[in-house]
Amino acid sequence: MDYRNFVGGQWLETTDSTPNVNPSDISDILGYAAKAGVDQLDQAIDAAHQAAPGWAASTPQQRFDVLDFVGTELLARKAELGRLLSREEGKTLPEGIGEVARAGQIFKFFAGEALRLAGDRLASVRPGIEVDVTRFPIGVVGLITPWNFPIAIPAWKIAPALCYGNAVILKPAELVPGCAHALIEILSRSGLPEGVVNLVMGRGSQIGPRLVESAKVKAISFTGSVPTGRGIAAACGQHLKKVQLEMGGKNPMVVLDDADLAIAVEASLNGAFFSTGQRCTASSRLVVTEGIHDRFVEALAERMQALKVGNALEDGVQMGPVVDERQLQQNLSYVDIAAKQGGKVQGGERLNRDTEGFYMAPALVSETDNAMRINTEEVFGPVASVIRVKDYEEALAVANDTEFGLSAGICTTSLKHASHFKANAEAGMVMVNLPTAGVDYHVPFGGTKGSSFGSREQGRYAAEFYTSVKTAYTLP
Ligand code: ADP
Repeated sequence: MDYRNFVGGQWLETTDSTPNVNPSDISDILGYAAKAGVDQLDQAIDAAHQAAPGWAASTPQQRFDVLDFVGTELLARKAELGRLLSREEGKTLPEGIGEVARAGQIFKFFAGEALRLAGDRLASVRPGIEVDVTRFPIGVVGLITPWNFPIAIPAWKIAPALCYGNAVILKPAELVPGCAHALIEILSRSGLPEGVVNLVMGRGSQIGPRLVESAKVKAISFTGSVPTGRGIAAACGQHLKKVQLEMGGKNPMVVLDDADLAIAVEASLNGAFFSTGQRCTASSRLVVTEGIHDRFVEALAERMQALKVGNALEDGVQMGPVVDERQLQQNLSYVDIAAKQGGKVQGGERLNRDTEGFYMAPALVSETDNAMRINTEEVFGPVASVIRVKDYEEALAVANDTEFGLSAGICTTSLKHASHFKANAEAGMVMVNLPTAGVDYHVPFGGTKGSSFGSREQGRYAAEFYTSVKTAYTLP
């Protein structure tokens, strides 16, 4: 399968391409993805620029029809596309199918939102004057996405962008061209005018800066690593461009003495290791009070060691491979650093399976303190550490002692502590007796501190980013 770029309604040829490798079986090449140079990106920017005014003038019904068409097809093809996702990215088949379904639901949600576009009409403070506040599209938006949610993240950026009348350039991550291509292929048949949606695959470091700096691109929504995000924010600042960033996390899961042990273990197992820990909302720091500490670590280690790690497409596999060799080496090196700094490591070794892939046993590192590198830097793999604390107050202080602030969880049966934690955890999302990862699609997603920048994604809050407001005064 050749994945081509989609520009101005045409699937373009390129001379350069990148193989799409199955992380569960590196002998399985899914296809070859086009690698755009700056010329092809410029073509896409021009096409989007030309198409933007037409789509900005589209009716709510046209927008609904396009978004609903895409949502319906994603849901109908979730088994097939979920398989593609698992084969390409390495999360298990049920996780892959679940992600495609979520992408479909996101399109359905924004189809409905297109019909509910509203403004405000206010009385003026001056007599006889009317005031209207209306939302209008921004124009061309550049969407830069990572590999860990290869269809859901493009969906949660493209759907609101189109819902609110913008033209789109999607620059997906190099490791996952198949899902981006499949999504754009559906959009290409959805009734959208040519040029409203464009797909440009290529090296982020080569074409990314051009996308960010182009005067015709009015806003950038980015999900990815902290260094890339910071660079993009700086460039957007220079060009006075609207920007939205979702980056890393070092999410705490607090477990208090009064927690239901089974719930705490289940939530931590899910939060830390499901999707191979490759979620920015993963529970990477388990902050546990001393009365439950030993029982919790023992029970979690037992559950972790029983997880079936293997080929993402195989029945019964609970944890798929790491996405690639570079990420696997990074995970192993963090486990090594944690051990050298005094952590007690269980699991965390490279594994061999029938097919050659990037397999790794999940790792639990206990006896750590919050200053160790394993607790200050994002690993982005199936590695969780345990920090022992005295009481709730110390747990909260440790949970907040991080430069990140995406998601924070607490397991407790105390209403008092749960309420206090919800109010005082420095995070954009707080979970009580639930994993830090795994969120709904109709409410805002995002963080505080070093995790996020700009307005929130998803739910109705997405309108803040994808529109601008106009205030009109009339003397009738
Ligand atoms: P990760 O380590 O998870 O791959 P990155 O931040 O490197 O995270 O990549 C996230 C997305 O940003 C990818 O689509 C990548 O191609 C893109 N990207 C990488 N470098 C740049 C850059 N300098 N400018 C714009 N986008 C970039």
